[in-house]
This record gives sequence, structure tokens and C-alpha cells, in this order.
Amino acid sequence: MNFKSFGRSWPASQGSISGSIGGVCALTLTAAATGATLLGFPSPSDISAGRFLGWRASSPYAPPPASPWAVSLTYAIQADLLANQSAFAPGEAAGIVRDTLNLWTDAARGRVTFTEAPWSAVRNEGPAPPDQWEGPGILDWLSGAFPGTTPGWGANVEVFSVPTGFTITSQSLTFSMNPNVLGFTVVNRIGSRTIVSVDIYLNESFTWFDAEAPASASGGANENNQIISYDLRAVVLHEVGHAMGLDHPNQAVLNGSWNISPILFNPGDPWSSSDLMHSVYTGPRSSATLDEVGGLAIVHGWKSPVDANGDGHIDGHDITQVLSDWGGNISHPRGDINFDQVVNASDISMILTNWGAQPESPGDPANWAPTTEAAGPSTPIFRECYAAEHAPAAHRPE
Ligand SMILES: [Zn+2]
Repeated sequence: MNFKSFGRSWPASQGSISGSIGGVCALTLTAAATGATLLGFPSPSDISAGRFLGWRASSPYAPPPASPWAVSLTYAIQADLLANQSAFAPGEAAGIVRDTLNLWTDAARGRVTFTEAPWSAVRNEGPAPPDQWEGPGILDWLSGAFPGTTPGWGANVEVFSVPTGFTITSQSLTFSMNPNVLGFTVVNRIGSRTIVSVDIYLNESFTWFDAEAPASASGGANENNQIISYDLRAVVLHEVGHAMGLDHPNQAVLNGSWNISPILFNPGDPWSSSDLMHSVYTGPRSSATLDEVGGLAIVHGWKSPVDANGDGHIDGHDITQVLSDWGGNISHPRGDINFDQVVNASDISMILTNWGAQPESPGDPANWAPTTEAAGPSTPIFRECYAAEHAPAAHRPE
């Protein structure tokens, strides 16, 4: 069957039909390809129409400007983040958060950047923002330190640590830190396309460590190979992934959505527990994967990662791009197609495998339906991310 979407037909020829959910065929690729899922699990028809969530470079109600669709976000970190953790010196946890933001800038090939906000971290708490989404919290504002500003809900992305049992109410929805949850992320949005403010909460009742610190050879496990502490980089990377507009691939089909391949943007890829956005903690991580890089390309309508020179065609010009980045010490090299931090022959191999393709990102504004920017619900999306394997659920009672 063909599924008309993204302004073109998606053939079933990439794989065999392995199942049918809600009338949508799920395809299984014969290759070991896996894909990314978009935040809030938009339906295939919503994806086709460009109704999925991301940061928008211009006003909340307008499409992003023409390429380059660079997005500049502010962030703020709770001053005493994870201060109860013996593994971290004062300020060390905040430094790890900053590292992860830089890693996401890398994954976005430099198109999403983060700048520390001048004001304190502010929880998105209460029935509505004081006046606007971004801006100093009411206490900072009353102090007079930020003349000419309007009080708001702080920075675009904020990171806090709280204990199990912590509860917050945001726009009439109440969230709790459940005992087997390493963290949860609250995404405030306007309609079905626009993320406006994200709060990340880490569970300080767990024991945390930095897998990249010299004294962390245990990997967080004890002598019986049981996990006793959790890699802060892995979990913050994952939570910021939600802030970037990505969701849990292993929960996509259950929620009426699907996973989309990161190279040609084909729907119906399976999920993998090796994805950074897998809902369950799988051990230390130091980067996003190609699936997440492709997910960012979908969310923001960028060219496919394999279209290294960004001309819409996968051809010899992309090999030229790889060769020009070969071995170079540059930031965000587009020639690192598979995002393994090395520009080498495996990147050229991916060009050859996909030679002649002209992948279209569903996030390309050319594929959007015209008048749906503000349509859809505006209640926050809440994602919790798990310490141990169990059935996925949006909310569980204590
Ligand atoms: Zn998650």
C-alpha cells in the first residue's frame, strides 16, 4: 500500500508489513534501521500536515523563516542542583547540564544554540504565566535587577532537582515525581506546533554520578552488576531531547504515531533500546544517536543528515562535503553523517547506500498545511523517564 504523506507517497517497498494499528501499516525494515519519534506522538496525518512540536525561530504563530532555521534558546539551572549528591562538587552538576546542551547543539549541527539566562531558574508553576513565557521570575523582577523587562516563566529550558514525592501543578495539570522515575520533563506549548517553555526535573532521591569522571569505572553498578547510581549526562541528555521535540520511540506505535527514519524520513521504523530517547535508562551515554539527529531534522525541516551539502540531492556533492570535512577539527561537521564523531569512510558509505535519493523532511514548511499554527491543545506535555523496565504509562499512582 501507499500512504500519502509529506506531499508524496510513502511506498511499502522498504519492508514487509508487520502489523496494522488504527489502519496505519507498520513497516519493518529488513535493515537494522531505527527511527525517531516526535513529542506528543502526533498522528501520521498530523505529521503530514506539519502539526508537530518544535521551537520556532520567529513569532509563536508564524512558520520559521527560510533556511538557515537557527533557533537560539535561553536556559537556567537551579542554583543548588543535586547539591545532596556526594559524587558532585558544588556546581559540578550544573556543568554537566551545560555539557549536554552543547552536545545537543552538536546534534543539531549548530542550528540550535543555548545561552544562559541572566535570571534565576523559575518553575512553570500555577494556572498561567505571570505575563509571558520567557522573562525573569517575579522575585527577580521585583528586585529591580531587570528594568525594562516583563515578569515571565524564566528561561526557555530550565533544570531542577527535587525528591521523590515532589508535586507541581502547571496550568491545571498536576505532576508528581514517582519513586521509579529518574526525571520528568514538562513541555509548555502553544497549539500543536510551538514549544514555548520547558522544565526538567531530576529525581534527587536517586544516587547520581558522572560516567566521564575519572573515578567512575564502575559504570554505576555494584559488584553484583546491579545499578546503584545513574549517569547524570545520560538522563539530562534524554530529558533535553524531550525539550528538543522528541519522544520515546518505544511508545510511539502504542500511542498512534510511528518512528521515522533519520536518513530518508520514511515512516514505520522499529524502535531500539540503544536510542538515547528510549524511555528506560540503559546506562551511561555521552551523545545523541543518528536517530535523534534525524529527529531534529524532522522537527525543524532541515535537510537529511546524509544530504551533507544541503542541496536536496544525495550525490557526489555530498561526498565532496565529507572529503572537505575529513579529519578536520571543525565544529558540527556536516560530513559526519552518521554522527559517530568521526568523518571517515563510513560516512561516504551512507551516501553511496542512499545515492540518488531526494529526502523531504516533513518539517519543511513547504509540506505544512497553511493555517494550523495555533490549532490544537495547549496543556503541557508531561514525560517521565524510567529507572527500571516496566510497562510504559503516562501516569502511575504512588
Ligand atoms: Zn523520556
